[in-house]
Amino acid sequence: MSEWRKDFLTGRWTIIAPERVNRPYEFEEEAPECPFCEGMESCTPKEVFSIRRNGTSPDQPGWFVRVFPNKYPALRNDIPFWDMCDELYRAAGGFGVHEVIVETPHHALDFSELSQEQIVRVLLAYKERLRFFEREKYLRYGLIFKNQGIEAGASMRHAHSQFIATPFVPHTVLEELEGAVNFYREKKQCPFCMLLVREREKAVRLILENDHFVAFVPYAARFPFEVALFPVHHSAFFQEETHLEDLAVVLSRVLKGVRKCSGMSSFNFVLHVAPYHAKDEEERGYHWHFEILPAFLRTAGFEWGSGFSINVIRPEEAAQKLRLCLYS
Ligand SMILES: [Zn+2]
Ligand SMILES: [Zn+2]
Ligand SMILES: [Zn+2]
Repeated sequence: MSEWRKDFLTGRWTIIAPERVNRPYEFEEEAPECPFCEGMESCTPKEVFSIRRNGTSPDQPGWFVRVFPNKYPALRNDIPFWDMCDELYRAAGGFGVHEVIVETPHHALDFSELSQEQIVRVLLAYKERLRFFEREKYLRYGLIFKNQGIEAGASMRHAHSQFIATPFVPHTVLEELEGAVNFYREKKQCPFCMLLVREREKAVRLILENDHFVAFVPYAARFPFEVALFPVHHSAFFQEETHLEDLAVVLSRVLKGVRKCSGMSSFNFVLHVAPYHAKDEEERGYHWHFEILPAFLRTAGFEWGSGFSINVIRPEEAAQKLRLCLYS
């Protein structure tokens, strides 16, 4: 049974999950049969959501996108919630949700090779899973993320993303959220909305935009070819987004560009949204977004020890290269 433990000084949470050690690691040798492929439904836990052809039944072939609980979950919600602390140690039961979102029934494709129509279905699944746990009493956050490729930490080759819902707001989101709320209190405006206006005006770090979305290299990007993707209009919750077709176009083009430019097919992306049960000023000050990161070998002693990053490509130059990759 896993357990949450909190560092008493920094407030960082760790999930202690010894049972995860036994999960299969498909990259070591190509497994003869992939449990994520169409036709292999009986090899996974029962599906909790799918988008499928009319007339086909759950846990049978005929799906386009399929979601089921992780077979080796870091967190689970079929256990009672507990929480304990004294002045130094705080712990909680490994409560939460951990699901796998299989993005295509076909084994050989990766996310950036999916059709627009298929990417829209995947985005729809993200929206549905985020929404599904919105009202759960003990859950404070829903996080969608994707590891593609061995360098990005994936253990399965078949294109998939993951959904984790947790009783605590993740540390990285909390950092952004606190900054955003402070900014909002002072200026009565969403800092991200203000930033988007500036980035679109200056355009030196801009990569791509359409009516509803904009992608650019962040001013203080941590990694070469890191990209941020935002809705142009203020919105704290991806789960309320309606322009999924437009989003699929931008996301797919950006991922292709990043792949071409970085020369790497491995990447991570995360979808940051405001927490569940958000307060009014969190909703007004926070703006949902994707962070896309090519999987360069990243954490060495300097980064571990300091929390600083060293990026060897100027963000403006990375943006220019990405634009060239997109339009060539
Ligand atoms: Zn497969
Ligand atoms: Zn905003
Ligand atoms: Zn973020």
